[in-house]
Amino acid sequence: MGPHPVLILGGTTEAKAVAEALAARPDLAPLLSLAGRTLSPRPQPVPVRVGGFGGAEGLARFLKEGSFRLMVVATHPFAARISAHAARAAAETGVPAIQLTRPAWQKQLGDRWQEVETVTEAVSALGDAPKRVFLAIGRQEAAAFEAAPQHAYLIRSVDPVDPPLTLPRMESLLATGPFDEAAEEALLRARGIEVVVAKNSGGAATYGKIAAARRIGLPVILVARPPLPDLRQASRIDEVLAFADHVLAPAKKRGV
Ligand code: NAP
Repeated sequence: MGPHPVLILGGTTEAKAVAEALAARPDLAPLLSLAGRTLSPRPQPVPVRVGGFGGAEGLARFLKEGSFRLMVVATHPFAARISAHAARAAAETGVPAIQLTRPAWQKQLGDRWQEVETVTEAVSALGDAPKRVFLAIGRQEAAAFEAAPQHAYLIRSVDPVDPPLTLPRMESLLATGPFDEAAEEALLRARGIEVVVAKNSGGAATYGKIAAARRIGLPVILVARPPLPDLRQASRIDEVLAFADHVLAPAKKRGV
């Protein structure tokens, strides 16, 4: 019998790390799936397929046709649709699945967070008075801020916002993390930023802006994560590897 096919749903640093860990095992044949949103994706340590599956049904079909033995959901915590589809496809096919999610950031002493449920709420939370806003929520939902054109925006994203925003006072900054705290502090100070808008993505790569805002005493409007899907959860790669061992072990070794 050849190596077991494993599907990794990716688009995150964690997915790349999982892919590396699984690729090191000769009994596994990982395939990494990307949505195809990033114009120049980073090189990956395993074979990659790109593009949507066509909903939960399409993903279920893909799992069956590829005889996948395991699915690792390592998408971004805000990518709620694909993880919900993964939960449905796993339930329908019986393919064991586990979601690897980085823990959310926790409020610390000195943080001036206003937590909101959605990006639309973040727009309202900016208020009526014009402010200088650092918008670091990614490009996909940036258009919501067109509803508040009174503010001046510094908008950072990996790729340009498309279609371009029609805000009267905005500047785009194209950059890929990780971003360190000192550089973030320098950026916030240099641009005279008065409020930061961010998603509670968790992880170290984009925490610099949160720590820098705390240091300067700036408020942060922080969008909370969407609810988790009905999937087994892990926060560390070794938990994913242990689950892989468990589900791929011959039945008698598992005590079945
Ligand atoms: P989403 O709203 O949950 O997914 C939208 C659709 O994109 C899905 O229904 C699926 O299409 C397709 N898709 C998403 N992830 C995929 C994957 N790994 N492989 C194949 N198809 C995928 O996701 P999103 O918020 O647009 O995010 C898209 C990608 O960017 C994800 O891979 C995510 O990890 C990454 N990302 C998102 C954020 C964020 O803030 N949302 C931040 C950083 C990275 P079908 O229904 O046709 O299968």
